[in-house]
Amino acid sequence: MTPKCEYYPICPFFTDSLVSGMPSTAKLLKEKYCCDGYSKCARYQVMVEAGEQYIEDSLFPNHEEKAQAIIARVKSEKGS
Ligand code: SF4
Repeated sequence: MTPKCEYYPICPFFTDSLVSGMPSTAKLLKEKYCCDGYSKCARYQVMVEAGEQYIEDSLFPNHEEKAQAIIARVKSEKGS
């Protein structure tokens, strides 16, 4: 499993601290997002568009709608 996402060394989803109890789900998501379509990852999108501090532990790579809501909220708070 070779990650393409630049954030994998610091991402707790990839490093397993968030998903240690669900190895098969985590493996599928890592292959789909971390190793392939990282730009579609909810965590990646929040990192790039809003900032690392806004990535909630409960945010999984496939939570795109939740990511868009976080990004919209942060942009609105920042007035941009
Ligand atoms: S979960 Fe998302 S942000 Fe984290 S390493 Fe994978 S693609 Fe990157």
